[in-house]
Amino acid sequence: MGRVFVIELEGPVYTCTKCHTHLGLPNDIIAKNGRHEYNFTRLFNTFLVESTSNSAFPDICCVGCSKNMGIYSVSDPNSYWVMRGELHGPEGSDDEV
Ligand SMILES: [Zn+2]
Repeated sequence: MGRVFVIELEGPVYTCTKCHTHLGLPNDIIAKNGRHEYNFTRLFNTFLVESTSNSAFPDICCVGCSKNMGIYSVSDPNSYWVMRGELHGPEGSDDEV
C-alpha cells in the first residue's frame, strides 16, 4: 500500500460527511439533479472503483474513509456525479448542510 496524499483545498469546499476530507469546489459544479446529485467537473481526494454492475459507471470513493460517494461516467470525463447526502456543504454558504 502506498501513502495516501490528501489535498487541502482553500476557500469554500464540499467535504465528506464521514471523515471531512476535502472533495470538491462549488465552482466545479456544472449541474444539479434536483438536490440529490451534483455534477462536478473534477473531484479531489477520491478514487474510482469498477462497479460490479455497470463498468461504464465506476463508483467514486473517498480516500479518507473509502465511502462510496457517487458514480463517474467514463464517456464524459467531466461527469462526476456525487450524491448530495454524502457531502457537507461549504460553511456559511446557503448550501451548508
Ligand atoms: Zn470520507
